[in-house]
Amino acid sequence: MAEQEGPEFGKADFVLLDEVTMEHFMENLRLRFSKGRIYTYIGEVVVAVNPYRPMGLYGPAAVEQYRGRELYERPPHLFALADAAYKAMKRRAKDTCIVISGESGAGKTEASKYIMQYIAAITNPTQRAEVERVKNVLLKSNCVLEAFGNAKTNRNDNSSRFGKYMDINFDFKGDPTGGHIHNYLLEKSRILQQQPGERNFHSFYQLLLGAPDDLLASLPVPTNTTPHHPAQPSPTGTAPVQPSTAQYPQGNVRFVAEGEEAALEAPEQLRVLAQLTATDPEQLRKALLARTVATGGGELIEKGHSPTEAAYGRDACAKAVYERLFSWIVGRINAGIAARGYDVRLHGKGTVIGVLDIYGFEIFDTNSFEQFCINYCNEKLQQLFIELILRQEQAEYQREGIAWQNIEYFSNEPIVELVEQPHRGILALLDEACLAVGTVTDALFLASMDTRLGRHPHYSSRKLCPTDKTMEFNRDFRIKHYAGDVTYSVEGFLDKNKDTLFQDFKRLLYNSADPVLRAMWPDGEQSITEVTKRPLTAATLFKNSIVALVENLASKEPYYVRCIKPNDQKSPTLFDEERCRHQVAYLGLLENVRVRRAGFAYRQPYDRFLLRYKMTCEYTWPNHLMATDREATQALLEQHGFQDDVAYGHSKVFIRTPRTLFSLEQERAQLI
Ligand code: ADP
Ligand code: MG
Repeated sequence: MAEQEGPEFGKADFVLLDEVTMEHFMENLRLRFSKGRIYTYIGEVVVAVNPYRPMGLYGPAAVEQYRGRELYERPPHLFALADAAYKAMKRRAKDTCIVISGESGAGKTEASKYIMQYIAAITNPTQRAEVERVKNVLLKSNCVLEAFGNAKTNRNDNSSRFGKYMDINFDFKGDPTGGHIHNYLLEKSRILQQQPGERNFHSFYQLLLGAPDDLLASLPVPTNTTPHHPAQPSPTGTAPVQPSTAQYPQGNVRFVAEGEEAALEAPEQLRVLAQLTATDPEQLRKALLARTVATGGGELIEKGHSPTEAAYGRDACAKAVYERLFSWIVGRINAGIAARGYDVRLHGKGTVIGVLDIYGFEIFDTNSFEQFCINYCNEKLQQLFIELILRQEQAEYQREGIAWQNIEYFSNEPIVELVEQPHRGILALLDEACLAVGTVTDALFLASMDTRLGRHPHYSSRKLCPTDKTMEFNRDFRIKHYAGDVTYSVEGFLDKNKDTLFQDFKRLLYNSADPVLRAMWPDGEQSITEVTKRPLTAATLFKNSIVALVENLASKEPYYVRCIKPNDQKSPTLFDEERCRHQVAYLGLLENVRVRRAGFAYRQPYDRFLLRYKMTCEYTWPNHLMATDREATQALLEQHGFQDDVAYGHSKVFIRTPRTLFSLEQERAQLI
């Protein structure tokens, strides 16, 4: 298919494998990886193996190679996929989206950047200033978002700790007119603690390593202890050196008990914090040590915190400040790329290409609420993939009356149900536990899951399997995900889900003298008596946003990049057979090939097909005189000798191999 590659590079499309078995699939993947061919197709899906080395595949020459070409004309590449999505959008005025999936460190974010870079490179031939501006903000926003939203984890030195969906708007000419970024669930708990070997968000290190001296001098950080490096984070946003944390000032506000209530361990810390937040030290002290509650009679009283409550409030506030800062940055970027001066009446409705780069499936040594949410999100996306690629494909053949052999495939629906089923799923039980009156602990939440989900084939816990020593009593539960078994620790689930932030902090920050900080806390204006409605829990908010995302993606024409991580050592040469096989299996790539092979690479409604190719045949140009478009299409394809490569459905023509379409395209190009 890809014309430029010899047989020594294996098959450029898994559809061309001699036999569709795991062995053949893996052999081809390994061979291509060893020859530096990191991209392979399954029809229009790009399978990408992270090369862990610069490939020199993305320069201006490569852009030219792929610009305006059909997918199968050149060796497999992300650029070809980006071009296909762009063409579909432009030719057929279809909203498209590119969904990039794969586990942490598999290369999703890098892929999304190359795709954006390609789209930027091929648009705006007339050099309109506004288009250039939009493209610039879109491209440059990555580095800012990564500084604040990425961190080193044990899986990836530059791991995205938030999900990102970016829409690019295009005018009728196909030039970008604006965009919008939607961010999903920043892992804000990282600012308080990280697993061994991991780091906080890059921004902290970049600040300490790269901020100008006068800025550093104004901050309560040591300026003379850490050697300075110019602010040159690597292109991926990773700060190269880790400053020694031993030199950080003991800046955390700590509490001691004074009777029942909390008091500040070192009152002078208050001054530093008040200065940083531009708040009044006395108000700050109050917010840290007590909360305002409304009595039954509507009277407001101050209720002192216990030291534990005070520490909880402090942490919640720190997390919320960072999270709102991040959302604020996203908002600023969005303001910068919002379509300006775009008039629907003049320019038409316009179209969209969405690019989804969302955290991949995660299995850490300790998995908490965040991994639970992330893995749930991956289940939803996998379900969408199955639906769109496999199920819809089969359904369409059936609808069109084309002979079809049924393909068995693994459906992860039971797992999605386990998590999100109303009233009975894990999320419902979690919310129930959070809303219950009285003291409900994480362990009680676990017990309620054991009772109500104990028989679910994808759920287990130590209590249900007493001999399974890999789990702990009263702490762990396990979900059999489509991508593997994950043991979650329930510790902190309730707190993270409630995500309570006392209104006193919101009001405090709303009253900050710093206009930026103040702008992040519009809800601080409310008084406690107005804040009666229970806010939605973190998991419910997350679920709602993921459901909306999936609906949005399902309404667009999807293109898929399936990223594979070749090894856990970040090695450019090692192809870890076991790890790769596992990913191929759970990504459902074999089923994908089977469906694709059983099926047809291309399909088009007869009228659209004729509109595009009628000039290539005397019977159809300029208009055919046959009874139906279907007959005319048949005549056209038979004249070209393609009758064995096509099937005729009720409303669409189906073409088996891309080569046929390629010939038609060539002929058309010569005639127009
Ligand atoms: P993910 O977003 O899937 O967690 P990343 O896109 O951050 O993974 O990739 C992890 C690392 O792998 C990158 O920082 C980079 O070093 C390397 N990498 C990924 N894709 C490529 C590529 N196409 N070429 C070179 N290196 C890559
Ligand atoms: Mg990433």
